[in-house]
Amino acid sequence: MNRYWKWLVAVIAVLASGCDERKSADSVTWQEGKLRVVATTTMLADLCRVVGGDAVQVVGLMGPEQDPHSYVSRVGDAKLLADAQVIVANGLRLEGKLVERLSEKKQSSKQILIVGDQLPSDLLLAPQEEFEGTKDPHVWGDVALWKQATDLVAAAFSQAMPEQKSVFIERAKQYNGELSTLDAWIRTEVAQVPEAKRVLVTGHDAFFYFGKAYGFQVRGVRGVSSAVESDLRQNQELATFIRERGIRTIFAESTVNGKEVNAVAERSGAVVSAENLYSDALGKDGDVATYLGMMRHNVKAIVEGLK
Ligand SMILES: [Zn+2]
Repeated sequence: MNRYWKWLVAVIAVLASGCDERKSADSVTWQEGKLRVVATTTMLADLCRVVGGDAVQVVGLMGPEQDPHSYVSRVGDAKLLADAQVIVANGLRLEGKLVERLSEKKQSSKQILIVGDQLPSDLLLAPQEEFEGTKDPHVWGDVALWKQATDLVAAAFSQAMPEQKSVFIERAKQYNGELSTLDAWIRTEVAQVPEAKRVLVTGHDAFFYFGKAYGFQVRGVRGVSSAVESDLRQNQELATFIRERGIRTIFAESTVNGKEVNAVAERSGAVVSAENLYSDALGKDGDVATYLGMMRHNVKAIVEGLK
């Protein structure tokens, strides 16, 4: 290897160490003096970065466009979780059994925030079908609930790093202002879709919070967990529903295999939107790599497809 290449590799290594994407836990270098935070989903990792700013280092367990329902722990996850000072998870069985195992290992020195357990239970939706005895985990679909998640993250960070409390609270307040703007924008956009056409058919049951908040009837090709495939009878029944309601566009999701959505579209005569919806994970690059951008992308695609 010549000197140039050695230099380039060294630069890339330095850049990569400042980046929270990881191949394995071994590649995570915790930075001195920062609060060590591990978040399970990409939405939560984004929220933690926004609220924590420079005071925290956030590592996401799951990568972009990775389906949390079928997340399989990787080598090094245990060490990462052990090293974290704050762990932020969605809960409500979104991450399978991961969170249950976390709770078993609860130590007083570590903050474990399970967002779904802390949100007011009367705001949580019952899933369409029985789902492991819990409520519907897709809480981020309702921006108002995500604002509450923002406050929960700020509180957990403040407990773990009290000297930065005012910073976390202020950053959360600012971000909640942006979320309020987003919420108002969604309502304006959605108003372009006539009420009778507000029927959202997607890859799996991820959009019920969104539907309740913004006035859509929602049907998923798969159920609450994208890991369980739909059967022929369910697809036929959904196709009949789509035909009867005169729905022209249905939506695939970036984290769910689209073959069943395509099959339902074929049976029903609807088309599949050219834009995938981001349901359970953020995108890799560009706008959809943040929660704000993901929501805007989804709303634009939905409004364009249904209006
Ligand atoms: Zn889901």
